Amino acid sequence: MMPTLKKKFNGKQLKRYKNVQDFIKPLLAGNWKMNGNVGFWRQLTREIAQSTLDFDTVDMMVAPPFVGVSTVSEEISKAMGTGLALGVQNIHHEESGAYTGETSPSLLKDFKVSYAIVGHSERREMNGESSVDVSTKACASLAFGVTPIVCVGEPLDVQEAGDTESFILRELAESLRGVFIRRADQLVIAYEPVWAIGSGKAATPHDIAPVLLSIRHYLISKYGDIGSGVRILYGGSVKPENTEELMKVPHLNGFLVGGAALKAESFLGIADKMR
Ligand code: PEP
Repeated sequence: MMPTLKKKFNGKQLKRYKNVQDFIKPLLAGNWKMNGNVGFWRQLTREIAQSTLDFDTVDMMVAPPFVGVSTVSEEISKAMGTGLALGVQNIHHEESGAYTGETSPSLLKDFKVSYAIVGHSERREMNGESSVDVSTKACASLAFGVTPIVCVGEPLDVQEAGDTESFILRELAESLRGVFIRRADQLVIAYEPVWAIGSGKAATPHDIAPVLLSIRHYLISKYGDIGSGVRILYGGSVKPENTEELMKVPHLNGFLVGGAALKAESFLGIADKMR
């Protein structure tokens, strides 16, 4: 079922926004989660940063655990001229102070961090992060010039009940409350159905297409023309074997990848199929 938001746009507008899609450079974002060690992060960064893949056609980012940020940042600097960007998996909304165990965007300034994943379903579930928390984190990232990758995704029971689109639109609206952008590249949205993450069972293009269209409509209704250029990623069991099929989904501008981001071969294999 298409969302009611669709009614806000006429055919001519939709065509215009569709054309914008052809010019969006896709982003492949790797979430390394709580994996690896110094040697592993160093080696994996080297292999990706020094790959012969054309970074002009695909943007790539890796997000190590916080303790790996310094190592990965160093390796990226060594691979002079690489297009590989550095991200983090979470962020605290305050700049500094008595927040034991937290890391703010301001503390990351020296490491050239470009992206912060916020609202990943594992943090929503295991750390009790609400969409209000997510919007505060996204605002803090933006204030420090770090692009937030705002994650949304429905659990299995919502999908089985056929309520995916209304769930996603609600979660998205709450997660973007107070989040204002001046350029499309200041924000990334990641649609990650919770049931597809780490399950080996990716959502199908048929599942994903209406959700991405709803997200696109929402972004345009909130940000105007800028919303047509905000990148929307899909995440959930993406691997080189299913990349080509998923890339055909309209309004899909890249992937957020977990398991397949832990090996240069599979991560670069996905990037290769995105060109
Ligand atoms: C993720 O954790 O964001 C994710 C998409 O994981 P995986 O690719 O392993 O499903």
